[in-house]
Order: sequence, then C-alpha cells, then structure tokens
Amino acid sequence: MFPQNLKDKFYEWKNDTFSIKKSHFEKLAKEGQFPKYMIISCVDSRVDPNSMFKTEAGDFFVHRNIANLVPPYDYLTEHSGTIAAIEFGVTALNIKNIVVMGHSGCGGIKNGYLACKENKFMENSSISNWLQLLKPAYMKLSEKSEKENIGELEKLSIVTSLENLSDYPFIKKELETQSISLYGIWNDIGTGSLESYCHDKKMFESL
Ligand SMILES: [Zn+2]
Repeated sequence: MFPQNLKDKFYEWKNDTFSIKKSHFEKLAKEGQFPKYMIISCVDSRVDPNSMFKTEAGDFFVHRNIANLVPPYDYLTEHSGTIAAIEFGVTALNIKNIVVMGHSGCGGIKNGYLACKENKFMENSSISNWLQLLKPAYMKLSEKSEKENIGELEKLSIVTSLENLSDYPFIKKELETQSISLYGIWNDIGTGSLESYCHDKKMFESL
C-alpha cells in the first residue's frame, strides 16, 4: 500500500496547487517543457532548488546526484547518467543557463574528502567510485584544518564541475559564442544564505 500520509499530501496538492494552476499544467502537457535553467544539485533532502527559487512546474530542469558533481566528459561510459542529463538539457531542450548548486554539511563531500585523504576508496562501491571524481578538487585544497578543508572542498568541487562542463563539446561550442552561461552557487542550509561563484574574481561571493 502506498503510504497514507503521502496520499493525503497528494490530494492536498491536487485540490490546492493543481486546481489553481490547472491551465498552466494543461499548457505544459500540450506544448511540452521549455525550462530556462538546468540545476545540478545534491540528492540531500535538505536542499530543494525548486522550493528555494519558488519555481513552478516546467521552470527548472533538475538533475541530482551525490555531492552535485559533474564528471569530465571523457568519463562518458562510466558516469553516463549525469552526462546524458546534461546533454539532453543543452542539446534537446536548448537550455542556456546551467547552475551547479552545492551546500553546507554535504555528506558526500565529507566522505569523499576522507577517502581522498586516506587514499581509501572501497572496491565494489558505487558511492566510492563516484566520489573519486573529487580527487582533482581535493588536490587544490590549501593547508587548513579538516573542518575548514571540507567546507573548502564543497566550493572547490563546484568550480571543478564548472570547468568540466566547459569542456563538454556541445557546451564548449556555445561558450565560444557566449550563448550559454554556467553558474556555481553554494547554499548554507542553517542560515539560508546563498553564495555565487564569480568567474572573474575566482571566488564565491554572498548574493
Ligand atoms: Zn550533499
């Protein structure tokens, strides 16, 4: 049986949000989706880009994975799920804005940090295999305390993901004509604040 509390919430949504915006949903069903933004965020349940930016259905094309990582394009066969979502967003949906969104207290980043530090990546673990993508960002960490370094890695990995994105052939082509924009943001869950990566200053700044 499907959980009753979810069933109740669904009917609340159906009678409230859906009925108010019925014409919007009918339009989406008839015309398809034309999202202006692709968001790549962590699977963490505390991070919700749709709620944070008060979107409506059809606004955001969202892909979530552990630690909001974008693999290098040459990992095509190994991490094809994330790469396929990006390719679909850019080439089929013609999205011109991609946002990589990280967050404070990311368990994926913490575990990846510890695995990099001890050089211990478990065999036969999909999580461990995935978190090896953090190695290039880990190598750029400054010499600080472990707590500071984990926070630093949350942001450095976003920068590495933006660099990887700019190497995807179908994105590289659009960057040459400045027809696509790549953004990196970091959300502090406890304070609700948001920082944005400045490509010129090469640092995160409060929004
Ligand atoms: Zn996370």
